[in-house]
Amino acid sequence: MTEEGAARTEAAAGADGSAMTSPAIERLVGHLGKLPGLGPRSARRAALHLLERRDSHLEPLLAALRNAAESVRACATCGNLDAQDPCAICADPERDGTAICVVEQVADLWALERTLMFRGRYHVLGGLLSALDGIGPEDLAIAGLVARAGAPEVSEIILATSATVDGQTTAHYLSDRLAACDVAVSRLAHGLPVGGELDYLDDGTLGTALKARQRLL
Ligand code: ZN
Repeated sequence: MTEEGAARTEAAAGADGSAMTSPAIERLVGHLGKLPGLGPRSARRAALHLLERRDSHLEPLLAALRNAAESVRACATCGNLDAQDPCAICADPERDGTAICVVEQVADLWALERTLMFRGRYHVLGGLLSALDGIGPEDLAIAGLVARAGAPEVSEIILATSATVDGQTTAHYLSDRLAACDVAVSRLAHGLPVGGELDYLDDGTLGTALKARQRLL
């Protein structure tokens, strides 16, 4: 079935009034609905919002999408997304070339950059090891990381994977792989969220914070 035909069938089957909208609109709603955080209802609202504001919203969005699709690529060194390769972080001589922070995805890199606390470079794995999802070491950018860790100027690898089962498994695997390199390997601390009250924390977070306690005197 053609895409248009599929959209028409979907439209005819829609129980939310979508039978009244054209296949072109349904196709737009369908694509918007695949975006993270947008369910079918919000996708429909977003589509309507765009179509009713062609000049101020729809056309600029179209131009931005086309520009991003044409210019943004993954950095061949670290996996960050940028319109230049190497990316701005890899190319910046002011960044500390001795430390590499390993993250699961670009969103995590952005989150760490927002803290303004890390001035080293990054390495984006492109996922986490997961037996359940069949994701093995060869599916992630691990060989590139090991190669970078072997460079003479690199002295520390910071593993900033999530505090989930897959995140911990990946961190353990990476520390094994990096053991042969002449680098210090560290992990992000797990503990109390800033502003967090003990009484509201889950047992796992509180227990890990207790284990990772820091000496004051
Ligand atoms: Zn880069």
